[in-house]
Amino acid sequence: MVKIVLDAGHGLRTPGKQTPNGEKEWMFNNAVLLAAQTKLKMYETVELLRVDDPTGKTDIPLKTRTDQANAWNADVYLSFHHNANTGVWGDWGGVETYTFEGNRSSSKADKLAQLIQPRLVRAMGLRDRGVRKKNLHVLRETKMPAILIEGGFMDSRTDIHALRNPHTLKAQGEAIADAIIDYYRLKKKSNTASPSNASMTFRLVTGTFLSKEDAVVAAERLRKQHGWTVYVKEES
Ligand SMILES: [Zn+2]
Repeated sequence: MVKIVLDAGHGLRTPGKQTPNGEKEWMFNNAVLLAAQTKLKMYETVELLRVDDPTGKTDIPLKTRTDQANAWNADVYLSFHHNANTGVWGDWGGVETYTFEGNRSSSKADKLAQLIQPRLVRAMGLRDRGVRKKNLHVLRETKMPAILIEGGFMDSRTDIHALRNPHTLKAQGEAIADAIIDYYRLKKKSNTASPSNASMTFRLVTGTFLSKEDAVVAAERLRKQHGWTVYVKEES
């Protein structure tokens, strides 16, 4: 099992965490988290635990989140964020991936961050600000490798277009999930419904007719209506 903690950062009511137009950081973070979660759920041996409030209404204290991750014995902690510089529109921008800078810094976290950052740059199409180190609570107080992702600046005239595009945020979440999938060599769950059908055929007996002509007419109708391959087989 690979136990993955997901954290969409500050709640909706946390002051200051917004674009100059008042769009909340949590909305962007949450969209990325959900895309990553959806993708990771398609893989075997994955367990997920979300430690922020999935409604965004309450800003769960960071200590509660890291305590929960530690008690759960998580393998990795992912915290999704979007940056702000001055809070007024500017020309800065770009994406960055953080790990802890202190002496408990983890080589696993560094390796994972190196896998995430180029995928993040590609998914968002924004400037590459690189893998960085910082002394942040969720990176410091977690016993497992922890990563904090800043997926673009909310007060950047360039980045904001990517942040307002739901497809780009989805691509960001999937890109981060891809890095996890690569790192842990996760195997995709087999889809039970469709793949086997390609190599199988199914026989459908449509009816019994007293004359061959009637059978041929019925077969022709089925061919035309459904595009089926229909044979008339004589039985005595
Ligand atoms: Zn943040």
